[in-house]
Amino acid sequence: MRPAKGLNRREVLAAVPAVAAAQAIKLGGPSQPLPVAVASSNGLRAVAEAVKRMEQGLPPVDAAVAGVSLLEADPDDVTVGYGGLPNEEGVVQLDAAVMDGTTMRAGAVAALEGIKHPSQVALAVMRRTTRVLLVGEGAKKFARAHGFTEENLLTERARKIWLYWKENAAPSDDWLPDPKELEDPDIRWFVERFGDAYFRPQGTIHLSAVDGQGRVGCCTTTSGLFFKLPGRVGDSPLIGCGLYCDAEVGSAGATGHGESNIIVVGAHTVVEFMRQGKSPEEACLSTLQRVVRNTREVYLKDAQGRPKNNLTLYAVNVRGEVGAASLWSGSQFAVCRTGQAPELRACAYLFQRPQRTP
Ligand code: ASP
Repeated sequence: MRPAKGLNRREVLAAVPAVAAAQAIKLGGPSQPLPVAVASSNGLRAVAEAVKRMEQGLPPVDAAVAGVSLLEADPDDVTVGYGGLPNEEGVVQLDAAVMDGTTMRAGAVAALEGIKHPSQVALAVMRRTTRVLLVGEGAKKFARAHGFTEENLLTERARKIWLYWKENAAPSDDWLPDPKELEDPDIRWFVERFGDAYFRPQGTIHLSAVDGQGRVGCCTTTSGLFFKLPGRVGDSPLIGCGLYCDAEVGSAGATGHGESNIIVVGAHTVVEFMRQGKSPEEACLSTLQRVVRNTREVYLKDAQGRPKNNLTLYAVNVRGEVGAASLWSGSQFAVCRTGQAPELRACAYLFQRPQRTP
């Protein structure tokens, strides 16, 4: 960060929390105990880790990366990092971004292959370059320059699931499914967990964090839409879409159908609604209403004209209030507040999800 004229770097950094505190007072009302972290439902361990790190003095953006790194390293989470489900060619391509709402700096990587922790690479982009977003080969070269090691991220489980999808995707191509495939516990697990015809499978972790010193940060990391077009980048690594924060207001992020979120610049819109005085939950719901208004293409709608896909938004304001909302019912979000155990809470929603037929 280059100091503004007449201010040295330390003075600039010191001035920011004071501005944030002044704005927080303007928002009014009692403040909740801080630090606090909010995340997607797969982030229960991540929010606990982030709060622990903030209690130790780590800035929220670093604490967010520490939290999501647990999931990126976990082969059982097939939506991020190592073990993430691949694109339609069987190649794992990862997207991640970080933002520091105190310095208003951000870093991101997209379509990154072979590096387990894209969130950590995004943090290095933020801190060790003058740029915001690196993609593909360039992102990988940058990661290797910073000592990240390249490895095969496609686990056996993810390969088998991809093959099952590939063999069943089109009736008239050259791939033949094995009738015994459904007896494989990995395939059964996938079909039971994600095989709902109504929703295209997807997953990501977003984490937003606020400490007790007026600092705010966030991170979103993903392997993207399952079996995506090679090179397809969703909302997750796009600043303003998959995540956004501002220490004057709070932080927000998204998981779900990336293209619907990109069109409304979701996370930035949530933060701006909070700036206008809406609670985190109201801000998420208002942004989702905008998604509904902007869903106009027939292929995006169900028979009743509602968005076919799901999108969930998460938010926390600088007073420590949290909220989340989804287009469709049934989603949860993870919260951890200092001195309290991490917990899952129900998201607010716009539409009641149809019952699954047995
Ligand atoms: N938002 C991610 C994407 O569009 C996917 C997800 O969150 O499920 O790539």
